[in-house]
Amino acid sequence: MAVKILDGKIMSAEIKAEITERVAALKVQGVTPGLAVILVGNDPASEIYVRNKQIGCDETGMNGRTIRLRADISQEALEAEIDRLNRDSAVHGILVQLPLPGHLDEQAVLAKILPEKDVDGFHLINAGHMMTGTEGVVACTPKGALHMIRSTGEELAGKEAVVIGRSNIVGKPMAMLLLRENCTVTICHSRTKNLKEHTRRADILVAAVGKAGFVTADMVKPGAIVIDVGINRVDGKVRGDVDFDAVKEVAGWITPVPGGVGKMTIAMLLANTLEAAERTLRHD
Ligand code: NAD
Repeated sequence: MAVKILDGKIMSAEIKAEITERVAALKVQGVTPGLAVILVGNDPASEIYVRNKQIGCDETGMNGRTIRLRADISQEALEAEIDRLNRDSAVHGILVQLPLPGHLDEQAVLAKILPEKDVDGFHLINAGHMMTGTEGVVACTPKGALHMIRSTGEELAGKEAVVIGRSNIVGKPMAMLLLRENCTVTICHSRTKNLKEHTRRADILVAAVGKAGFVTADMVKPGAIVIDVGINRVDGKVRGDVDFDAVKEVAGWITPVPGGVGKMTIAMLLANTLEAAERTLRHD
């Protein structure tokens, strides 16, 4: 069976088209979804991510706002800024671009964001919703990855799913989402022994490791759905965690990098912001 490419550019464009329509409908009701992105300092990679988020807002008709703060801002001043945005009814989503400079307490900053405005889904309340399977904001990258997995049309219940990586922003929520889909889920990490034995059983393999070309063809079950979350800069080029050229000869479906999960992450951020704005109308 020839491999099918799960194209994040095409999929995210479809999602953004639907979001644009829903934003227009909300505007008729007097609400323009607003996303505030806080960027502390001027890390070059963060600058790119923030710019792409702003472009996404512009494309879909949302109010995107980037708040640039000095790298030496104090914890108190940053938290005060978040309080201000929490109170601003024109702001439906607040995102703090990570990583923050080392002197700032990241967890305390994220905890300051109102859970209903936490469009990244990183607040402990939203992490709790993820654990219990109750309604909350789902983290953008795993949400986008799941959308791609679902797009295969395969029955997910009972499938063996292996997630490589156990971070709070990708690996763990990804595993929880797959569990919700009734997959049998294995989480592998840096201390996992005989990694290949696990990955070769996977009908669905998600790589969120942060090492270019880490997943090789001999680690993949023939016909598997392979989702590459990795974004690694090598010699000025962006590469995924999967050795794409070799793995595409074995996999049934595969996501490219660039043009894969990264595109979906932004689409899901816009979706989360839209949903946050729609919720405010329901609560009026
Ligand atoms: P992280 O560094 O927090 O976590 C990496 C995980 O990989 C860890 O849990 C670790 O246990 C595991 N790991 C490391 N070495 C391993 C090994 N030899 N064997 C098995 N597991 C190993 O990273 P993260 O924040 O989860 O991000 C992972 C990757 O995804 C990075 O490349 C990051 O840039 C990318 N990312 C992409 C998006 C997107 O939108 N596509 C979003 C977030 C992160």
